[in-house]
Amino acid sequence: EPPLSAVVQTGEREVETALRPRRLSEFVGQPRVREQLELVLESARRRRVAPDHVLLSGPPGLGKTSLAMIIAAELDAAIRITSGPALERAGDLAAMLSNLAEGDVLFIDEIHRIARPAEEMLYLAMEDFRVDVVVGKGPGATSIPLEIPPFTLVGATTRSGALTGPLRDRFGFTGQMEFYSPAELEQVLRRSASILGIDIDVEGSAEIARRSRGTPRIANRLLRRVRDYAEVRADGVATLPVVRAALEVYDVDELGLDRLDREVLGALVRSFNGGPVGVSTLAVAVGEEPTTVEEVCEPYLVRAGMLARTPRGRVATGLAWEHLGLRPPDNTGG
Ligand code: ATP
Repeated sequence: EPPLSAVVQTGEREVETALRPRRLSEFVGQPRVREQLELVLESARRRRVAPDHVLLSGPPGLGKTSLAMIIAAELDAAIRITSGPALERAGDLAAMLSNLAEGDVLFIDEIHRIARPAEEMLYLAMEDFRVDVVVGKGPGATSIPLEIPPFTLVGATTRSGALTGPLRDRFGFTGQMEFYSPAELEQVLRRSASILGIDIDVEGSAEIARRSRGTPRIANRLLRRVRDYAEVRADGVATLPVVRAALEVYDVDELGLDRLDREVLGALVRSFNGGPVGVSTLAVAVGEEPTTVEEVCEPYLVRAGMLARTPRGRVATGLAWEHLGLRPPDNTGG
């Protein structure tokens, strides 16, 4: 770990980096994915081969990037990082691939957004460790096969359903990341508070954990906002009353829903009488991209039992009406 003073003086982005767990043993929660991954890595280590390609799937902020870096660290390998949207042309990917050294980990975030030509190049690379580089244009074009050293692809996606079948099939293992329990988030917070030198008591961190939407990145962010509040408006100690007051300032409600979550529920209930309504219509109503509503808001609202995805569209449950202080119409289940 870097010295405390160095951490405290750096900006928020650097803080995120400082808080990243470095080894599998430091990674809190996700017991299933961790056990599965341990087996994949240990077996590859014993056979002295690059492990199968790994797909990590789940909502944002659950630690997919951290886990990709941990995979590389556990393999003693270097990691190269890129993302689906950055791989617009096959040439972009060819450049990445041809720079890999044997055993490297290639991390592609948001892999469901990779452009088609790059995706097709990736098939061959994943399967045969080979790329076909096309030289020239038209009838004179030739394709030159280029060998690349065995590597491990780690893909991350918030929407594994948006991956094409052929791409999904080429991953040897898919880790399905789940929301964290409050107890697990308390562990994350304890660790973060000690790295950042933040004075928080047990009730205070339990309250943040309970209101972090099951997401470590949110827990860490709220911890920093609570620290600000504790330093400026209190005596520096994050007790339960301090945490509650701070979260009120930052618009985090009793269940941990943020402004956008509440806007989505509010529109669903007030403008569409609880649904069913299509996600694009709902997104327009709150002025957001459908993908943001679908990938960032909805998974937690579904998990919290407030929103249901049905074939006819999104539906608010009785719990959602109640949470907004409204009475559900009689025909609503839930
Ligand atoms: P995205 O999908 O947006 O890339 P992500 O799922 O990759 O997000 P990370 O960036 O890996 O999320 O994690 C966000 C932060 O949450 C990290 O900086 C780390 O501090 C913390 N974190 C995530 N998972 C864990 C964990 N299991 N244990 C401890 N801290 C964690």
